[in-house]
Amino acid sequence: MKNKKRAVIALLLCAALLLCACGSKAAAPKGERANVSSDTLYVRKIENLPEDFILGMDVSSVLAEERSGVKYYDFDGEEKDLFAILAANGINMIRVRVWNDPYDSAGHGYGGGNNDIDAAVEIGRRAAANGMKLLVDFHYSDFWADPGKQFAPKAWEGMTIEEKTEAAYAFTKESLEKLRDANVDVGMVQLGNETNGALAGEKTWFNIQYIMGAGAKAVREVFPEALVAVHFANPENAESYASYAKKLDYYALDYDVFASSYYPYWHGTLENLAAVLGNIAEQYGKKVMVMETSYAFTPDDSDFSGNTISDGSAVVKNYPYTVQGQANSVRDVIETVNAIGGIGVVYWEGAWITVGTNSREENSEKWERDGSGWAASWAAAYDPKDAGKYYGGSAVDNQAFFDAQGHAIESLKLFSLVRTGNEIEPAVDALEDARVRFDLSAEIVLPGTVDAVMTDGSRRPVDVTWQISDTQIAEMKSAPGVYEIAGEADGRSVRCFVTMAELNFLQNGGFEDGAADPWELIDRGGADELGVEKNKLNSLDGDCNLHFWGAKSGSIDFDAEQTAEGLAPGTYKFRVSIQGGDAGEAEIYAYVRLDGEVIATAPLAITSYNNWSTAEIRDIPYAEGQTLTVGVHVKCAGEGNGAWGMIDEAILNAQT
Ligand code: CA
Repeated sequence: MKNKKRAVIALLLCAALLLCACGSKAAAPKGERANVSSDTLYVRKIENLPEDFILGMDVSSVLAEERSGVKYYDFDGEEKDLFAILAANGINMIRVRVWNDPYDSAGHGYGGGNNDIDAAVEIGRRAAANGMKLLVDFHYSDFWADPGKQFAPKAWEGMTIEEKTEAAYAFTKESLEKLRDANVDVGMVQLGNETNGALAGEKTWFNIQYIMGAGAKAVREVFPEALVAVHFANPENAESYASYAKKLDYYALDYDVFASSYYPYWHGTLENLAAVLGNIAEQYGKKVMVMETSYAFTPDDSDFSGNTISDGSAVVKNYPYTVQGQANSVRDVIETVNAIGGIGVVYWEGAWITVGTNSREENSEKWERDGSGWAASWAAAYDPKDAGKYYGGSAVDNQAFFDAQGHAIESLKLFSLVRTGNEIEPAVDALEDARVRFDLSAEIVLPGTVDAVMTDGSRRPVDVTWQISDTQIAEMKSAPGVYEIAGEADGRSVRCFVTMAELNFLQNGGFEDGAADPWELIDRGGADELGVEKNKLNSLDGDCNLHFWGAKSGSIDFDAEQTAEGLAPGTYKFRVSIQGGDAGEAEIYAYVRLDGEVIATAPLAITSYNNWSTAEIRDIPYAEGQTLTVGVHVKCAGEGNGAWGMIDEAILNAQT
């Protein structure tokens, strides 16, 4: 059946080519990939990528975007149907989300494209007209379903699981019949969206599998050749994935594809993704794929509605937020999935761009009217806590394959170029900002090179010149803080962040070595935990702190101290900070010992999380040959969960 279909398509293509040859300037044949080439985009070829490997694109928002006046342009600058542009650049499947009833009682759309089945029919029709199959993503909800929410459709409220199962079957069947009647080429149907242990308000696998089973039954009846998929998020949690697959196997759910979202910012490494999906494919004999992925081509927002990824977001490995970085990230996801025998990768919302560049007010009117933002205010009726509060525009306009004016950007070509490769001479794609740290009294020497990320993803150092004046240096030496210095390398601007810190005669004063050494920990109470913790949020500065916890009352009773080396005779000051909780009756202080004798103490207190208490001991005399030791004494009689806390930023400095 499949082969026969292919033969028919081939015949049609031949006919189309003949027609093209006769007519002048006729449109490209449907579904035919144009010859894609690029002078600037580096794409390493993916070996052994099957012709039928799914390179999909979710464009669920497209109809709403078009209602808001968005237009799309190809690489020649010609306005074209989005679907034609995607097909010409190697996309072979279109994904669309389907909500049961994304409207309030007055008929206002919730937004996010207002994607009901009628929208899916229209999108499917246009996909088919351009030779692409449709992947139908039933959320079995009236609005967004993801690991955080799986609300039942309004019409299913209060139903028993039996009634819900029947409703799921009826809804799926009726929806698919509409698609079939419109001659949409449905290639795959997924039963729920990111269904991590919940679906349509059901939270037990016993109930979830009933709804999924009803959906699967309807798919088999209406589109017997389509693949049935289940879809989860958070592959970084391997145990969860293994448990989902096991449950589905236990209940013998009728499905073909185990699919995962993979957003590089949040979902672990590609190696982990390969291992997790590879195991499921092998153990249960299922096809696997990435159902959603995306990557930012710029940190900048263009629609006055905040994005999930922006300037402060941590860059993943060697993928800067550039057009090339976006292409490299997606290319590597495709390679990873293909290498484990997976069947495809779908990019999420590659065309959800801004509906205007003038103001948030102007855009907001369109989002409300057309449903072209992620949520409209009308969604409050269904999802008051999230959409009803934070409704707005596109959170992924900087992860599209089109710029703010709707012009295709070079990275879109990757879907075609991964098959042929485009291994041009690598060039500098992005520069990495430099970060250095100095004591206030030290000479400031800025790095001579910065790291460049090349278009092929490799790194190399490039020479840099910094714009820094004597006045600026004097200012930096006068006060601790982080200073930003502008520089230039390879004709681009780059920054150096210089942390100026007080001179510290203690070693590892902020525990940034990741271990306590050379601090001496004298544990009298038998703490459950006493050691260096790497956790930026729990630290006063940097990434690490000295963490302690003891469940039993009295188990927190310790000193942490260090003897200073290489001090010149003079007067010194010692400062240290602590935070924590559940201390109960406590005796906490900083101390200074000179030649074995405590000469000064200063009280510290543990109150609550993130409430740092700082002690400073001044006027510490030091003469040649003496031994100066500084430390923190912590003794708590806390009950219940036991005392806990963090010590950080111990500084011993000359007092001037
Ligand atoms: Ca935005």
